[in-house]
Amino acid sequence: MNILITGSAGFIGGHLVRRLLEQGHHVTGVDNYIGGQPATTERLRHPRFQFTEADVRVALPYSGPRLDWVLHLASLASPAHYQRFPLETLQVNAQGTQQALELAAQHGATFLLASSSEVYGDPLAHPQREDDRGHVSCTGPRSCYDEAKRYAEALTMAYHRTRGAETRIVRIFNTYGPHMRPDDGRVVTTFVQQALRGEPLTVYGDGEQTRSFQYVDDLIDGLLRLMAVPYHGPVNLGNPEEVTVLELARLVGDLVGSPPQLEYRPLPPDDPRRRQPDITLARRLLDWVPRIGLREGLERLLAEERASGGGRHAAS
Ligand code: UDP
Repeated sequence: MNILITGSAGFIGGHLVRRLLEQGHHVTGVDNYIGGQPATTERLRHPRFQFTEADVRVALPYSGPRLDWVLHLASLASPAHYQRFPLETLQVNAQGTQQALELAAQHGATFLLASSSEVYGDPLAHPQREDDRGHVSCTGPRSCYDEAKRYAEALTMAYHRTRGAETRIVRIFNTYGPHMRPDDGRVVTTFVQQALRGEPLTVYGDGEQTRSFQYVDDLIDGLLRLMAVPYHGPVNLGNPEEVTVLELARLVGDLVGSPPQLEYRPLPPDDPRRRQPDITLARRLLDWVPRIGLREGLERLLAEERASGGGRHAAS
């Protein structure tokens, strides 16, 4: 198949491109490198991979053969980054999603939106099911991401309902793995980098807030399965193994081989208290469950980091 993917130089985008190439597809990647890394494009070099540097908020240039799929993954996703670039984040999910939907319509291609567990905000129900309407501040510091993803989902459903577009929406929960930016700012990368450098781990708030972390390979399996199923509503993909931030810190310390020193910092505003996916739908629809537990995933990540010399340099 011919597949165009926005955000191809991002963390998840890079992993997805690699898997699509392994399956024999022709892939066109697009990225403006605001969050993605040129090193990812370099690593993906392949006769069936083409790359265009472009800003999908403005235009999505493509002149190749008819596309079968447009996968819209472009967006800043780390709270530290999207709060530094709130307008860009809103726009890539608003105008960017529209550009990608229009390109898919021109080609009669199927469109996939990478949405987020952030649409649930600081959830009232636990775990989060797809029919949860969310508890989101539309003006808070996270709103540039949460509300943008909610709008992107609404736009996708409007194209599906009124224009008959073939669409998919995936709500991605916290995901980690190799090749994240060292300065990503999210908790897993930050703790791993800090632990490898022998620095204290920065715990925000009391560390009793929870998250559920999935290894990137499990997510990619779920995404590929969703592409094969004509279901248009949102689907959660995440690992239901829920841990507190303190438990994560202890586990990372354990694996690095030294009891972690903790440095407590203030909890950022609107930081969700709990997060855990209900994956009943993905299990039924896609016959999918995550296979890699947190300990195993962190071991794999640490092995990669050590092999590539990660943690030696201070995160910027
Ligand atoms: N967090 C932390 N220390 C860090 C970075 C994050 O304690 O150095 C906390 C953060 O406050 C949140 C959780 O870890 O409660 C997950 O944060 P992350 O930025 O990874 O993603 P989020 O799930 O909030 O989008």
